[in-house]
Amino acid sequence: MSSLLARISDLIRAEGPITVAQYMTLCLHDRQAGYYATRPGLGAGGDFLTAPEVSQMFGELIGLWAVAAWRAMGAPDRFLLVELGPGRGVLMEDALRAARVAPDFLRALRLVLVETSPVLRAEQARRLAPFTPQSLDRIGELPDALPLILIANEVFDCLPARQFVRHAGAWREQVIGLDEAGNLAFGLGPAPRGLDLPEAADGTVIEQSPAQTALAEALGARLAGQGGFALIIDYGRDRPGFGDTFQALHQFEKVDPLARPGEADLTFHVDFSDLARSGVAGGATASPILTQGTFLTRLGIAARLQSLAAAQPAKAATLLRQAERLVAPDQMGDLFKVLALSSPGLAPPAF
Ligand code: SAH
Repeated sequence: MSSLLARISDLIRAEGPITVAQYMTLCLHDRQAGYYATRPGLGAGGDFLTAPEVSQMFGELIGLWAVAAWRAMGAPDRFLLVELGPGRGVLMEDALRAARVAPDFLRALRLVLVETSPVLRAEQARRLAPFTPQSLDRIGELPDALPLILIANEVFDCLPARQFVRHAGAWREQVIGLDEAGNLAFGLGPAPRGLDLPEAADGTVIEQSPAQTALAEALGARLAGQGGFALIIDYGRDRPGFGDTFQALHQFEKVDPLARPGEADLTFHVDFSDLARSGVAGGATASPILTQGTFLTRLGIAARLQSLAAAQPAKAATLLRQAERLVAPDQMGDLFKVLALSSPGLAPPAF
């Protein structure tokens, strides 16, 4: 039995079933055995691929978006370029390479990476060393004197969420306890208090992420105070909805989220309508919610593909496959959504 499974089982024996959000936090961030804390499996040899790991085009286009965003801010001569949850640092490396078209932008930026995982922080520091990034543990530690452009790709999906299940005409919290054999098992917990959940048929699941909501609101407040933009990209829905989206990935396979605590990536789909509302509650303006396909098409992925393919004809077929993976509706194009939060008065490019 893994040490984390043993500790979670002990915790449940001592204190009773835990919420899905508590379970997720332990599995991802436990200092000794959490997935991100100790063995994040990003990239081809790992557990899952993100858009920047699929293709350099993704980060390059985000880099060009950031340059346009900086110009929309009046091209300030100092600003914070912030990435939240930068993974292996690949997106930012590609973005900063593309941003060489704007030397003034490169001179003006101060690179700040917000990352919880010590393993990934070390890799980011190596890959982005030429830009001497500052690494922070949490968004609350960001300096607050300069305007900012913040990028968050596939970060909100790994913030913990709670699940509620409709049972016998009432909502109950989904909890994780132990079955008779001592294995982790889902069960029904108490009725939620202080939450306004809609009516639904028995068996329906609804998810809420106070962590996602709080982060979007904090970003909104920061943007209202400091000026600038936040670009949020993730998989999820553009309106509130029902359904169980709790997912575990291990070596590119979906696995039972209770099977390997600490060994799989755990995620939820993000409710972008909630992020937009929360950002506005914090004081920012929210853009319309776009699909990733539409966003990358507006940023010129077709032209970028053409010029890369012309420069390396032997790789043309691979590049085309990568671009399709990012934008095709039946691949990442529709499932992934994009939202920009802006300080009042600023209009985000491409929305
Ligand atoms: N943005 C990268 C990595 C996505 S994986 C990419 O697109 O490839 C999720 C990233 O968020 C990891 O770097 C993970 O360690 C980080 N992360 C998870 N929870 C976080 C939190 N609460 N605060 C900051 N970073 C977090």
